[in-house]
Amino acid sequence: MALTTAEKKLPIGGEWIETGDWIEVRSPYSGEVVGRVARAGADETTRAIDAAERAMREPLPAHKRAEILVRVAMGLGRRHDEVARLISDEAGKPIKAARVEAKRAMSTYTFAAVEARKLAGEMVPMDAAQAGEGKLAFTLRRPIGIVAAITPFNFPLNLVAHKLAPALAASCAVVLKPASQTPLSALLLAELAEQAGLPPGWLNVVAGPSSEIGDALLEDERVKAVTFTGSGTVGWSLKARAPRKKVNLELGNATPLIVAGDADLDAAAAATAANGFSFAGQSCISIQRVYVERAAYDGFLERLLPRVAKLKVGDPADEETDVGPVIDEGAKERILDWIEEARSAGAEVPAGGGEQDGLIRPTVIAGAGPELKVSCEEVFGPVVTVNSVSSLDEAIRLANGTRYGLQAGIFTSGLETALRATHELEFGGITVNEAPTFRSDQMPYGGVKESGNTREGPAYAVRELTEEHLVVINTA
Ligand code: NAP
Repeated sequence: MALTTAEKKLPIGGEWIETGDWIEVRSPYSGEVVGRVARAGADETTRAIDAAERAMREPLPAHKRAEILVRVAMGLGRRHDEVARLISDEAGKPIKAARVEAKRAMSTYTFAAVEARKLAGEMVPMDAAQAGEGKLAFTLRRPIGIVAAITPFNFPLNLVAHKLAPALAASCAVVLKPASQTPLSALLLAELAEQAGLPPGWLNVVAGPSSEIGDALLEDERVKAVTFTGSGTVGWSLKARAPRKKVNLELGNATPLIVAGDADLDAAAAATAANGFSFAGQSCISIQRVYVERAAYDGFLERLLPRVAKLKVGDPADEETDVGPVIDEGAKERILDWIEEARSAGAEVPAGGGEQDGLIRPTVIAGAGPELKVSCEEVFGPVVTVNSVSSLDEAIRLANGTRYGLQAGIFTSGLETALRATHELEFGGITVNEAPTFRSDQMPYGGVKESGNTREGPAYAVRELTEEHLVVINTA
């Protein structure tokens, strides 16, 4: 059962405003209303940009920005249980996974505070060229300007933290548009930021119809950067529509894992069971496609299937639950259709494949061809495909055989095999003897190919949200 109910206004320019209209936030598990949020449109978005512009006229020194960021981290720590419950209620995320997310957001703010204090340019060795003799030169890192942040439903707290905290570290004011299905965690972060002493206008939140708010953000020249996490369809179209803005994209994946013939099969199977189905597979780096060298295939499946059978499917509020609902009925129908497509094409389904009390059971599909949707598109559901391959070459070719390139992994005990895979897998991040679902919040995180064009992790995001200005001083 969902435990929270909340009615939230929108923070714009230091005021919490009502708009006369509300969005209902419903539990993806029970369907009950867990909160109502004031619904913004183009007018509120422009008002938020006005407020951000005013805020940036009075820059905050680095030590103040860092102190505010640390205080938000402390606030998240103090309200940990409430924060985790809110994530669980609005996203349908199992409470134990929601707790991990709430903790990670503290880490994201803490690392951003460090970056705020470290933000500096660099000296340029001018006398390295004859033309530079008698000159002193250095760069300053300046905020890029007002940032529009657009975030997805699946990590409604920590992925919002990955936008807000680095932007403040970089001294940029933000207009945030959280996912309509999960705006409550984002608003809680705004409340914590206000309590931490963030002055008016530095963080403004607009929840509401995405195209109306998106258009207002894209069309306003004062917005200099858009930082977006979500689907490729939306992300790339925003970038195409805003050629003069910096548009940073963190997008989807169809995450592959290679299990080499010499791998520790217990470890590989445990990692797959834990990271293919957690939060019903709704992580951009949830393990989706496993390619196992033939000699290890039967042994891997023997170890995987009992672990999958043990996963507890049910109420996300239950401490024991591993797999809860997917975000909505549309997503559920799509995922079940894709499973059916694989079954009709002759693939086996040795685990799951259908529903249990209205939730998709953790599903393993064996022998799905590369042309099937479960193999080449992002499932974003509790579905893992397992295929036997004849060689490492074939595994790498199949792993690379999608338009995505966020993270990939390999289990092997051979250094040479591991190093070859790290060179040949076309992904932004590669894990060895660890699930490709692994992320620690200070890491550079982001994709190649259609999975994105940027790196997050506070140090990297701050770099993306600042510009280098050169100063040359004639000392001759
Ligand atoms: P989505 O449908 O693309 O939505 C993401 C955000 O974009 C939401 O806030 C949405 O608002 C907004 N949006 C939609 N259309 C828009 C428009 N025309 N203009 C401006 N904003 C618009 O993605 P999702 O379903 O929430 O999230 C799942 C996707 O995110 C998956 O593909 C997943 O892999 C990806 N993801 C990537 C990462 C990463 O770090 N690489 C992390 C997590 C998730 P509404 O909610 O109001 O529609």
